[in-house]
Amino acid sequence: MRDMWDAEHTCTCGEKMHKKKFVLEGIEVRGWECRKCGEADLHGADAQKVLVLNKLKKGIPVKVGELGESLIIRFPKELAEYYKIEKGESLILKAENDKKIEIDVE
Ligand SMILES: [Zn+2]
Repeated sequence: MRDMWDAEHTCTCGEKMHKKKFVLEGIEVRGWECRKCGEADLHGADAQKVLVLNKLKKGIPVKVGELGESLIIRFPKELAEYYKIEKGESLILKAENDKKIEIDVE
């Protein structure tokens, strides 16, 4: 399938737009920029990713359960989808400070 990334972009001012990588919320977003009027246009799928990340940054409450002698938490579907985490995958849990635990996905 042909991605819109490869298609030519024309600015509302009529000028041809140039590909550019923007950084939003710390992630790379492909887009186009008009060198004439400065107008910017973001790649739809990449912009969507930023919106999802923004939502996920607010946090998802989960309850601690118990399985055998271990405590378990359910991994929210939205997070799993965003980070492409699948069953059987290994993650690394790391203490960040006394109020925060980090999970390395790669
Ligand atoms: Zn323009």
